[in-house]
Amino acid sequence: MSSDAEKLEVFAVQCPNPTCRKFMLVEARDRGNVVPCLICKTPIRVGAAPLKVGKTDSPSR
Ligand SMILES: [Zn+2]
Repeated sequence: MSSDAEKLEVFAVQCPNPTCRKFMLVEARDRGNVVPCLICKTPIRVGAAPLKVGKTDSPSR
């Protein structure tokens, strides 16, 4: 019943910076927090729902 191993859930968040858009893995316990992008230091707000990785709308230039 007791499990020593703490379940560590991670999910991916994408940097909102259009020139970066780096995917980073954050821990589930960081939900609601703001983590800086490792690349461009842009603050990324960690949402409650995991980001869906798939087809994104093609940006109109
Ligand atoms: Zn970034």
